[in-house]
Amino acid sequence: MRAVVKTSSEPGLEMIDVPMPELGPDEVLLQVKATSICGTDLHIRNWDPWAQTHVTPPIVVGHEMCGVVVDKGPKADGPEIGQLVSVESHVVCNRCAFCRTGKGHLCENTKILGVGRDGVYAEFVAVPAANAWPDPPDMPYSIASLQENFGNAVHTASVPLVSGRKVLVTGCGPVGVMAVAVARALGARLIIASDVSDYRLAMAKQMGADITVNPATGDVVDTIMDVSEGEGIDVLLEMSGAPSAINEGFTSLKSGGEAALLGLTSAPLEFNLDDHVIFKGASVYGIVGRRLWIDWYQMRGLLRSGAVDLSPIVTHRYALDDFDRAFETMASGECGKVIMFPDPQDADGPLE
Ligand code: NAD
Ligand code: ZN
Repeated sequence: MRAVVKTSSEPGLEMIDVPMPELGPDEVLLQVKATSICGTDLHIRNWDPWAQTHVTPPIVVGHEMCGVVVDKGPKADGPEIGQLVSVESHVVCNRCAFCRTGKGHLCENTKILGVGRDGVYAEFVAVPAANAWPDPPDMPYSIASLQENFGNAVHTASVPLVSGRKVLVTGCGPVGVMAVAVARALGARLIIASDVSDYRLAMAKQMGADITVNPATGDVVDTIMDVSEGEGIDVLLEMSGAPSAINEGFTSLKSGGEAALLGLTSAPLEFNLDDHVIFKGASVYGIVGRRLWIDWYQMRGLLRSGAVDLSPIVTHRYALDDFDRAFETMASGECGKVIMFPDPQDADGPLE
């Protein structure tokens, strides 16, 4: 089968022929219908220091997907052959203390598809049946594919209380704009969004932000103080990993406020812990992955009720054969979610 593979310890990805995946007894074999690009895949393609320490070539890359079950191992429960499923990319052990206490997203034996085991930029992939999340058959493939990433936004926006409160989202990449939509759906009173890209701010507006501010041309803290009668924000959803955005977010946070941090800083940062957290009595939450499976159930509810419509953020579709162009689009930042289709016939919109 065709697959996009990190073949050696250097920048780049290659499409090559690889053997069909071996199907474990508790696994399902999925025919990949759509797969989307995440920032992590860019890191792996660029072979940056994070990738060099987390990925061992050769490996099939990619972890966001939907597909159809085409075969099952003898001990695989769950989805039947023919079912459309999305995939939770974190394969957890179900045995460690975290898994056994409802904290599977912190599993100490986690293997991530496309990072620690073969991923989904391929015609087929084998995953544990427990990782396959059944989708309604009428769900567009693009939306079904990006749910894994949507789960990061749902997780971040549902740990602090956003209902009736003033919320700042720093960083309006795909996850940031999805968090804007979730905060809106959960009843936020006011949503301010910041990004250094006007393209991304326009997307944030479309997904429900009341006010957008570009720190390159405007002052984020002044803007927030103006619109909040000098009070500041109740909730920070940090989705950029940019040190200046983190500082602006905490400077704008009210005493007693809550900050949920998803964005990854590439290096340790200078941070005024006393003023930003301690004297404010702020609550700070680190957010990793998706809670298994609360966030998936909440996603299903938000999408099926129509409270969140993700279709505007699907901006580009490519054939998987065109993965290089798809990655260039993602790297440019002038995009929302970029979806790739192993079989171009499966595309749910015009291909680039
Ligand atoms: P992304 O890189 O597409 O988006 C980041 C956005 O931040 C970009 O639009 C960028 O323009 C913006 N930005 C950069 N500097 C800024 C600044 N000074 N002020 C405001 N905005 C600024 O990433 P994404 O896919 O949307 O993911 C968001 C973040 O979450 C990334 O850091 C990613 O690595 C991280 N992430 C973490 C987890 C987790 O489990 N913790 C999971 C997925 C993604
Ligand atoms: Zn575990």
